[in-house]
Amino acid sequence: MSAQETLAKIRQPLQMRVANSLARGLGVRENFQSQLNRFFELLEQALVSGDPSWLDSILFEWSTARTQTDLQEGERNVAELLNKIVIHSLDTARENLPEGEALELMSGLMPLYLHAIEKVASYESESRVNYVSNELLTLKTKLERLDKSKSNFIAVAAHELKTPLTLIEGYTAMIGDLLPRENDQLHMLAQGVHNGIRRLREIVDDMIDVSLIDNNLMALNFQPVWLNRILNLLKADFKDSIASRKQKVEIRNFPGSEELLFADPERIYQALKNLISNAIKYTPDGGSITVDGRTLPGFIEITVSDTGIGIAPENQDVIFEKFGQLGDASLHSSGKTKFKGGGPGLGLPISKGIIESHGGTLWVESEGYNEAACPGSTFHVLLPLRTQPSDPRLAKLFGVAQLPEKPPENYPQAP
Ligand code: ADP
Repeated sequence: MSAQETLAKIRQPLQMRVANSLARGLGVRENFQSQLNRFFELLEQALVSGDPSWLDSILFEWSTARTQTDLQEGERNVAELLNKIVIHSLDTARENLPEGEALELMSGLMPLYLHAIEKVASYESESRVNYVSNELLTLKTKLERLDKSKSNFIAVAAHELKTPLTLIEGYTAMIGDLLPRENDQLHMLAQGVHNGIRRLREIVDDMIDVSLIDNNLMALNFQPVWLNRILNLLKADFKDSIASRKQKVEIRNFPGSEELLFADPERIYQALKNLISNAIKYTPDGGSITVDGRTLPGFIEITVSDTGIGIAPENQDVIFEKFGQLGDASLHSSGKTKFKGGGPGLGLPISKGIIESHGGTLWVESEGYNEAACPGSTFHVLLPLRTQPSDPRLAKLFGVAQLPEKPPENYPQAP
C-alpha cells in the first residue's frame, strides 16, 4: 500500500483530532476544518510527488493571517499548530494502523513536516518583523501627535496665564504706590508679592519659549554682539546671589571674547544666564564658577564650569529634554535636598534651542553626580563665528555693511 493510501486511511480521525484540540467553538472548528482539508490535500500531493513545496502556499497563509484567529489563545502561532499536527499524526497512526504501515507513513511524512516547520519559522519571523515595524511606526506617529498636542497645550496655557498675570502685576504695582511710605512691613509684603509674580512670569515666559523652540518658531534678531559685554552684564546680574552664597564667579578674558559676532544678543544672554544660574544653583556655598572660552576654526567656544554636585553620565542627555529636571518629584516639592527643587526643568532645553537656532551646539561634561565630593560640571557652548549677518539683506537693514570696531557706549541693553 502506498504512503498516500495509508494517509487517506487515517486522515479523517487525524483531522478531527487536530481541529478539536486547537479550535475553540463548534463554528470555528467547522471553518478550521476546511483549512485543514486544504492542508491535508496538499500534504497528499507533496507525499505523492516527493516535493514538500506543495505545502508552502497554505503555510504562508497561516503564518501571515486569518487562521491565527481560529486558534486558541496562547496557540496563535503556526509552529504550535504544526507541532500538534505532528504529534497527532504519530498518535493516530500508532492507534489506527499496523506497526509497519505506521512506520512507513511517518518516515514519508517526517521530511515534509520538517520542511513545513522550517518554512513557517522563516515566514513567521518575516511577518513578525513587518508586524513589529508597523507597530513601531504607529506608536511613533501617536507619540509625535501626543508631543505636538502637549506642546500646543503649553503654548495656549502660557498665553492664557499671561493675561491675568499682567493684570495682577499692574494692580499690585498700583497698590504698592498707594501704601503709606512709613509702613515698612506692608512694603515688605508687597515686595514678596512682586517677587512671586516675577518668578511666575519667568516660568510663563519659559513655557512660551519652549513651545516656540518646539515648533521651530523662535525668531532671532541678529545683530552685532560683543560677547564679553554680555558676560560682564551677567556677572553684574548675579552679584547679589553670588554674594549671598559666598561663591566666586570668574569670567576670563579669553581669546575671542572681544570679537564681534552676529547673533541675537538677548537670546544669547538668556542662554548663558540659564547656564550660570544653574551653576550657582547646583554648587554648594563657597564654590566657584568659571566662564572661559577659546576660538576654534569657524567657531567660538564658551565654557561654564562649576565645582558643584555634577551630573551622572546617564543623565547628561536627559537634562536637555523638556521637563528633564532630574529631581525626584517628591524631593522637588519638599526640598529634602538643598540642591533640588530648582525649577520646572525648562532652562537647559531653552538654552539648547537658542544655541542650536544660531547654528551652534550645547553639551555637558561631568565625571558624575556626587553631592559630597562635588566633581563639578562643564557646559560647552559652541557658536559659529559669524562676522556678518547670515543673510546679506540683513546688513542693509542694520546699515552695518562696515562693521564697527568697538561696541557703542551703552551696548548691550539689559534684556
Ligand atoms: P531646572 O534647573 O529648572 O530644574 P534646567 O533645565 O535648567 O531646569 O536643568 C535641568 C536639570 O539639570 C536640573 O534639574 C539639574 O538636575 C541638572 N543641572 C543643570 N545644570 C547643572 C549643573 N551646573 N550642575 C549639576 N546639575 C545641573
